[in-house]
Amino acid sequence: MKKHNFNAGPSVLPRVAIENSAKAVLDLNGIGLSLLEISHRSKDFQAILDEAMALFKELLDIPAGYQVIFLGGGASMQFCMIPYNFLNKKAGYLETGVWAEKAIKEAKFFGEVDIVASSKDKNFSYVPKGYTIPADIDYFHITTNNTIYGSEIRCDIDSPVPLIADMSSDILSRPVDISKYSLIYGGAQKNLGPAGVTFIIIKDGILGKTDRKIPSMLNYATHLKEPSLYNTPPVFAIYTCLETLRWIKGLGGIKTIESMNIKKANLLYDTIDNSKMFVGTVEKESRSIMNICFVMKDQYKEKEDAFMEFSKTKGILGIKGHRSVGGFRASTYNALPIESVQALVDAMNEFEKNNL
Ligand SMILES: *Cc1c(COP(=O)(O)O)cnc(C)c1O
Repeated sequence: MKKHNFNAGPSVLPRVAIENSAKAVLDLNGIGLSLLEISHRSKDFQAILDEAMALFKELLDIPAGYQVIFLGGGASMQFCMIPYNFLNKKAGYLETGVWAEKAIKEAKFFGEVDIVASSKDKNFSYVPKGYTIPADIDYFHITTNNTIYGSEIRCDIDSPVPLIADMSSDILSRPVDISKYSLIYGGAQKNLGPAGVTFIIIKDGILGKTDRKIPSMLNYATHLKEPSLYNTPPVFAIYTCLETLRWIKGLGGIKTIESMNIKKANLLYDTIDNSKMFVGTVEKESRSIMNICFVMKDQYKEKEDAFMEFSKTKGILGIKGHRSVGGFRASTYNALPIESVQALVDAMNEFEKNNL
């Protein structure tokens, strides 16, 4: 039976990216060696890295004056590298979910943290609005997509101080005005590739503002000097990212991807909104088009497990909500086909018809 993969991360990847990665593991471009057994300093790998960085820049329309690097350590490592490199006295954070809280926790090791606005009062079910970003902070940090609770900041905000964004779970899902940001980062394993690689987009000239001594591996300057090659980068993960980027380009780029994503999200949100049984957990204006969270209304709550079992019989996988929200979360990342969303919608309608 066809499987519909709604996993939150690691998550669905374009089939062609997986197939081509499998081929490269067996024999890279016909050189007679596996991608896994060549030097990261070989010309074969350099070509992969160069193309991946160039395509990433091209697809996101990254202007001159920015560099792209691929590192290990995950987005969670960036939670610490950012304050290590940029926090002198005080930084501002928008507290919109568990990932933002984790970033805040690390920043506190390095200085003062100003929680500029928070949606914790309502279990992170909305994105705060109407706050003022203080002018006396070293940077302002946001999480554009709240993967666990399903809210998203789908516009590029203006900030009077350097803006830093965790885009782990919505990178490449919509066009971004990169010029508004000083640094953008994320783990690849939601929308870009396999686990193990982290992308960083960094504006020139933002380093060197702290006197703190920074260990080499945690210093952005180290990794910018030898882009992505100071130490051995995650070669396999970077290769699969390249294949995903080629797939996006082949489809026509990010605008195309965005309209596909909106279509998928609308299909599911419309079903939720028209349902007598299911209800969304996020305020409408803040809804994510990447992670769609919903529960059963109180009077049907005890049927949630039954729906989970029913959906499995239809090949629908990975829709269990995060333990802090409960219910269901359907992750509709770039590579998820609309047919999978249709399968979920059909399952919801059928279950509702039989169980009201
Ligand atoms: C998954 C996720 C992370 C954590 O990424 P790791 O690569 O596992 O460290 C951080 N932020 C957001 C928004 C995420 O979705």
